[in-house]
Amino acid sequence: MPRRIPRDEAVRRIALLHRESQGCLLCAVIDGRVPAARRLVTTTHADAVLTRFPREWGHVLVVARRHVTSFADTTSDEWSAVSELARQAAIAVERVLRPARCYVASLGTTNDDVVTSYPHLHLHVLPVLRADDRPSAMFSWEPGVLEAEEPEWDGLARALADGWPT
Ligand SMILES: [Zn+2]
Repeated sequence: MPRRIPRDEAVRRIALLHRESQGCLLCAVIDGRVPAARRLVTTTHADAVLTRFPREWGHVLVVARRHVTSFADTTSDEWSAVSELARQAAIAVERVLRPARCYVASLGTTNDDVVTSYPHLHLHVLPVLRADDRPSAMFSWEPGVLEAEEPEWDGLARALADGWPT
């Protein structure tokens, strides 16, 4: 089973990846210099990946393939692709993990020195397992994030692929 690691350890790990990426970590994930836990789907304008820092098991990131940091810079085609991929990811998450509900959110910051947050456009698709989990608690690393063994990542990626809408 995936295990929860404390926030401080997660921050230490993502800071290392951030240094490896030599710039925008999400650009590095898109071009493969820093691998995501698993890449689920690639389209012209957006990729769906399993983040190495899931708040809950089944946490998917949908990332614009181009480095865009504001909605003003986003084309209609890019936003449509990101939104549609998030919808598909949420359907797969609902089918596979049967959460109470699914949060979909664009977070991020324009402040480059917040190591847990990136301005590169992305949507979080986050399964909410307990009905009383609030967004303020779910979109926080305070309770830590999950880590998993490679076979566990394989199993989750396979299950989501099977549940992905066609
Ligand atoms: Zn980027």
